[in-house]
Amino acid sequence: MQYLSTRGGISPISFTQGVMMGLAEDGGLLLPRTIPRVGGETFASWHELSYTELAFEILSRFIDDIPASDLRDIINKSYASFNHQDVTPLIHQGGLHILELFHGPTLAFKDVALQFLGNLFEYLLQKSGEVLNIVGATSGDTGSAAIYGVRGKSRINIFILHPKGRVSPVQEKQMTTVLDDNVFNLAIEGSFDDGQAIVKKIFNDVEFKNRYRLGAINSINWARVLAQVVYYVHSCIHVSSHEKDSSVDFAIPTGNFGDIFAGYIAKKMLPPGTIRQLVLATNDNDILSRFVNSGDYSLGEVRATTSPSMDIQAASNFERYLYYLTDSDTAKTRDLMEQFSATGKIDLKSHLDQVKRDFAAAAVTEQEVFDTIRTFYTEHGYVLDPHTAVGVKAALQLRTAGVPMVCLATAHPAKFGEVVESATGQPMVFPEPLQGIGDKQSRCQTIAANVAEIQTFVANNSLT
Ligand SMILES: *Cc1c(COP(=O)(O)O)cnc(C)c1O
Repeated sequence: MQYLSTRGGISPISFTQGVMMGLAEDGGLLLPRTIPRVGGETFASWHELSYTELAFEILSRFIDDIPASDLRDIINKSYASFNHQDVTPLIHQGGLHILELFHGPTLAFKDVALQFLGNLFEYLLQKSGEVLNIVGATSGDTGSAAIYGVRGKSRINIFILHPKGRVSPVQEKQMTTVLDDNVFNLAIEGSFDDGQAIVKKIFNDVEFKNRYRLGAINSINWARVLAQVVYYVHSCIHVSSHEKDSSVDFAIPTGNFGDIFAGYIAKKMLPPGTIRQLVLATNDNDILSRFVNSGDYSLGEVRATTSPSMDIQAASNFERYLYYLTDSDTAKTRDLMEQFSATGKIDLKSHLDQVKRDFAAAAVTEQEVFDTIRTFYTEHGYVLDPHTAVGVKAALQLRTAGVPMVCLATAHPAKFGEVVESATGQPMVFPEPLQGIGDKQSRCQTIAANVAEIQTFVANNSLT
């Protein structure tokens, strides 16, 4: 399988080249040249497969430059760290199917992709003899999932910037209690936006980036999207063994458009009609739901909500969808993205019919999130985290009678204990990985929100 850029500016590359490249060198995002289709017979033959066997069937259709037995080993190692035998179990609750994606080491769905990406990096670096210094900024969830993805791995160091005192105490502890020598937590004296701007500047310094072999781990890496395709297919199989209807809807709490884009790929791969509808759910940061409902893609101010991992306006994976929406027109995709960065908006009303065939969408208010957590607990005894509640609310609004609805549960409620406790009125039961985390030894360096100082720190601590 060859990979191309959404902006058409690079010659085709292999999967492993794409993983190491991250962002395409022309500023676009990487996509496979074609999306492999899975016929009805093949799909039916997958029904008895375990999660990891299914992952191999799917991933091997997109990856042809890693030997099969090595790919199987990488997959098996990645999902052995999950504490549920189904990896991503489906819970049937309140007429919905809750897809629990939070059984990985940091209790958020990002583990599904980052455990895989960490093992993939380790494998590729081992083969090439190279090293990688990962630099990233986090507002909370991505940092810990990325750290757990690469902790203790040789040939990789990771530097994660978080805004000092502005991530939740649990999130801070999840990052800073990882004491492996290759992990560097930097608490910057500034905001998340400051951290992100600093990382961007560091990556734009191409000489520095190449000299210190910097790598990114954010959600634009194709390998992350690919790993997420698996649980959509896995749920289609498990819902259809639970219900007669073979068509399934999904509701996805959305921030950077990575998770729902994986659903879009799954929909294109599977026999037509297997996935019927993808419901895009946003919180108050509603640029994407406005886009689906009106064709207007325009930036607003970022607002802080109780689902912070979705407090995003410019969704980094949106460009991938734009490429398909324009019928793989790379020149048009590039123009539209340039227009967006110049003006903060794109008018896509002429594509609205297609958009509405691809997605349905709803924005969910903070009051609705709170009420949904409370009602779902009192009626069904099941505790939702605020991100999951955004998806559940949209699902209840947009579901169709007779079509099974799968709601992606993207974080364990204990990660957002305060809000959840006040909505349910019940004390939170902390799962094992979080018990006693407040008393564990931690390591973290406070540093000014200053590009030069952070570059110096990275330079002094990077692998060469
Ligand atoms: C990252 C995240 C999301 C949003 O996923 P995207 O791929 O960015 O759309 C939703 N919920 C949780 C808990 C997350 O960590």
